[in-house]
Amino acid sequence: MDQNEVLFDRAQESIPGGVNSPVRAFRSVGGAPRFIEKALGPHMFDIEGKRYIDYIGSWGPMILGHNNPKVIEAVKHAVDNGLSFGAPTKAEVLIAEEIKKLIPTIEEVRLVSSGTEAGMSAIRLARGYTGRNKIVKFEGCYHGHSDSLLVKGGSGQLTFGTPSSAGVPEAVTNDTIVLEYNNPQMIRELFDKQGDEIACVIVEAVAGNMNMVPATQEFLNAMREETAKHGAVLIVDEVMTGFRVALGGAQSVYGIDPDITMFGKVIGGGMPVAAFGGKRDIMNCVAPLGAVYQAGTLSGNPVAVACGLATLEEIKAPDFYKRLSAQAAKLVRGLGEAAKKHGVQFSAQSMGGMFGIYFRGSCPTSFKEVMECDGERFKTFFHAMLDNGVYLAPSIYEAGFVSITHDDSVIARTLEAADKAFAEVKRVHG
Ligand SMILES: *Cc1c(COP(=O)(O)O)cnc(C)c1O
Repeated sequence: MDQNEVLFDRAQESIPGGVNSPVRAFRSVGGAPRFIEKALGPHMFDIEGKRYIDYIGSWGPMILGHNNPKVIEAVKHAVDNGLSFGAPTKAEVLIAEEIKKLIPTIEEVRLVSSGTEAGMSAIRLARGYTGRNKIVKFEGCYHGHSDSLLVKGGSGQLTFGTPSSAGVPEAVTNDTIVLEYNNPQMIRELFDKQGDEIACVIVEAVAGNMNMVPATQEFLNAMREETAKHGAVLIVDEVMTGFRVALGGAQSVYGIDPDITMFGKVIGGGMPVAAFGGKRDIMNCVAPLGAVYQAGTLSGNPVAVACGLATLEEIKAPDFYKRLSAQAAKLVRGLGEAAKKHGVQFSAQSMGGMFGIYFRGSCPTSFKEVMECDGERFKTFFHAMLDNGVYLAPSIYEAGFVSITHDDSVIARTLEAADKAFAEVKRVHG
């Protein structure tokens, strides 16, 4: 029997669902997840020794590919000096300065250990700064699993938060307003009515947790204008897009000026580093300067920060994003051609090192359109790709990631697998 299946059965005896984060369990595509033993460059190897081309990249962080030698060296060096001090280090100052250099809208930044913490802290800060309670998020956007943000809302309606997880009291989500993504009109109407009660708007400028859906410029402009007009805080969640779609993040692509930005994923290079930062007068409300409490035993952990710093150093290489974008573009173009050859309805797009694939005639622009993607065809495609050595995210609601080590030969091998996989989709589903 396949060792992955054996271990998955065993895992389910002692870990809920066998995994430590739900989407890893393959529930929406079926089958056993691969248990990874090691990874190198664009490849992961499972416990059977089978090699896969990796398009998950640890869900975003591994932009340099796995085991980048400079990053590993920096981490080993940090380990030699001790694992954690609970006192400030020079590396924390260096990474804060580096973030400020790369993202000009950041004046001060605080490190945390996960994107969830960054989101939770940013919301608390926005509420503390404005003295208001209501927060606005968009359907299909994910900002970590803190209670007040675990609301996706009903389609098409301006909904007052119904929690989308058990265990979240309605009292906590009553102040969470959910609007449609890419619908600027809804933002304007809401702010006309109750702009002065709103603490913040939080958004993924390129949504990456309902597959990939880029915002329109008009949508982002509307929320920037309305929040500024009504004294609300604009939080741009760049946990996924930061240092991923461009060196300056999605905000540099759209030319948007957030009050607060959240980071995670790439900023830690595969270790637990995340951050929230922005305008000085807002950030100065955080303890110990201000009244908004926020803390963490392992925040700014020296080993994790060394990993993040070394990663940021590498992505500043000249032409890094040009090369990365070119590989992602080659991938999505090739996939589109292969689908067409086999007569499968399909679309795909990329931005920087992030991409979306959709079993649908055109790229979706809203949550509703994402929901129209064909999950059954995806399932067949996913397993055919996996059998042919390509590890895609096991869900139609996830974006994909390319690393700088996905060179032409890796893309070519992916497209050979895709040719077989689309043929299989056609054979099974017609
Ligand atoms: C991954 C993600 C988060 C949550 O980060 P964790 O480190 O998993 O807690 C928040 N926002 C966005 C946009 C993300 O993609």
